[in-house]
Amino acid sequence: MADTIFGKIIRGDIPARIVHDDDRCLAFHDVAPQAPVHVLVIPKQPIPSLAATTADDRELLGHLVLVATNLARSLGLSDGYRLVVNCGPDGGQSVDHLHVHLLGGRRLGWPPG
Ligand code: AMP
Repeated sequence: MADTIFGKIIRGDIPARIVHDDDRCLAFHDVAPQAPVHVLVIPKQPIPSLAATTADDRELLGHLVLVATNLARSLGLSDGYRLVVNCGPDGGQSVDHLHVHLLGGRRLGWPPG
């Protein structure tokens, strides 16, 4: 797959405000936050989108969600939060490297736009 801005962050070529780093994923604050807390959790493996995942990615996907959930706890989102995975053009995906948005710190509207 083509390199993306998130590939550059994983390699340390461009800076990010990292809040979690392990052998499978990285989490950092979104550069254009849509809520008081807006963190992205990304796999280190360059998977372009949710649509490209297979059953082999089951554990990795579970890991991303659990990391986001643990971050929600450590970042103090005791009143709730939202996890979002935008997929493809209709889903509003702008970076072609799978990522989970963790949003919280304010009451979020529904349905999304
Ligand atoms: P999506 O629209 O779901 O593909 O989300 C991509 C997200 O990446 C957006 O919320 C952007 O604000 C965020 N983003 C883009 N470049 C950077 C960057 N260099 N550091 C942190 N977040 C970024």
